[in-house]
Amino acid sequence: MFDKILIANRGEIALRVIRAAREMGIRSVAVHSTADADAMHVRMADESVCIGPPASSESYLHIPSIIAACEVTGAQAIHPGYGFLSENAGFVQIVEDHGLTFIGPRAEHIRIMGDKITAKDTMKALGVPCVPGSDGGVPTLADAKRIGAEIGYPVIIKATAGGGGRGMKVAKTEADIERAFTTARAEAKAAFGNDEVYIEKYLTTPRHIEIQIFGDGRGHAVHLGERDCSLQRRHQKVLEEAPGPVITPELRAEIGATCARAVAEIGYAGAGTIEFLYENGEFYFIEMNTRLQVEHPVTEAIFGVDLVREQIRVAEGYPLSFTQDDLTINGHAIEVRINAERLPDFAPRPGRITHFHAPGGLGVRMDSALYDGYSIPPYYDSLIGKLIVHGRDRPEALARLHRALGELIVDGVENTLPLFSALLEEPDILTGNYNIHWLEHWLEQNLQKA
Ligand code: ADP
Repeated sequence: MFDKILIANRGEIALRVIRAAREMGIRSVAVHSTADADAMHVRMADESVCIGPPASSESYLHIPSIIAACEVTGAQAIHPGYGFLSENAGFVQIVEDHGLTFIGPRAEHIRIMGDKITAKDTMKALGVPCVPGSDGGVPTLADAKRIGAEIGYPVIIKATAGGGGRGMKVAKTEADIERAFTTARAEAKAAFGNDEVYIEKYLTTPRHIEIQIFGDGRGHAVHLGERDCSLQRRHQKVLEEAPGPVITPELRAEIGATCARAVAEIGYAGAGTIEFLYENGEFYFIEMNTRLQVEHPVTEAIFGVDLVREQIRVAEGYPLSFTQDDLTINGHAIEVRINAERLPDFAPRPGRITHFHAPGGLGVRMDSALYDGYSIPPYYDSLIGKLIVHGRDRPEALARLHRALGELIVDGVENTLPLFSALLEEPDILTGNYNIHWLEHWLEQNLQKA
């Protein structure tokens, strides 16, 4: 059993991990940059270590400082949260070389899934359905044209090292392919230092459905159903729900079992998410995230399990604390991501929170590191909180979301709260009738024109 773990992250996810550790009787160590000296994760942890200046590259991403913080505090394991070092296979290797435990999957699995072409090949071989496209990288424009003609337009060009929606370009017809190919490569080179791209059929009206899996690292794995994350802006999720409004129990059981079988076969350890596009009754794998997701609380709500606790247990070498048969869905959950951003253009708006009041009551969870007087630093991402509601069914969850949004107060900085109140007026949102393009269209017609 670990006595002490270090959290190599900040913000709401650092609090999330501290909470799980405390319930397990494990002490927590927060790390922070000089810009985060007054942050809530520093206050809430049992101990804290300043690891560098504001820039992430010199603090939250600076591996020697994080390892040194473990050494001085005696922390035995590191939870990476999401983002930062969470999907860095080299970091996992260094952690292990120092006799510490990484709370997450093995370096090898992070490496496989971090390269999207290798990830797709691996999943295909494991029997997971994939989007039709190029077999591997597409080195030249001539190859791109040939593949475009073969699979048919529209196509999407994606960076093999991609993430966060960068390095992706759509070509509607052959006339677009040169521009899409060149700009996707240039963006990929600039963002990831690797300009390799591949091509997929562009699905025109899919939903984004992702399956939560958990492996014990010894060939056993379960699935915890799906999350529908189709409401996106610039390929970034804005609202997530579970179960998915259009996924039947039969579809869930089938795709869930396929995913659990695939990760069991490779001996995957810990939490992971297999992302699909879903269109006309078919699932198409797009990528796997080898970490905890921002939207994990909707899954926790409907299954009544603590996914961070489970990650820590698996890292300690315990078997999974639930079997597939133990995992039954109870009700419906919705999460909205609240960002410190100005509407309608979503420009980041750091600054001082003059007043913060979290909603409460039955079925309401607020994961946020805000407090009265807190200054949101300009150096990191703009997520300032997640509001998660749980109800007996989808209409009850929607009513609860409406009620909780009315109670939530975030004063001092512009933020995306008004977006959600407006979305709850939309019949398509109330009926669950949306796909990955719905929000962009709605924003064009509503907010951005207003
Ligand atoms: P990233 O790792 O950058 O987030 P993903 O491969 O997960 O990239 O894709 C992110 C989003 O881009 C998806 O949720 C979807 O909205 C869109 N997308 C990706 N591939 C396709 C495709 N083949 N057809 C249509 N949309 C796609």
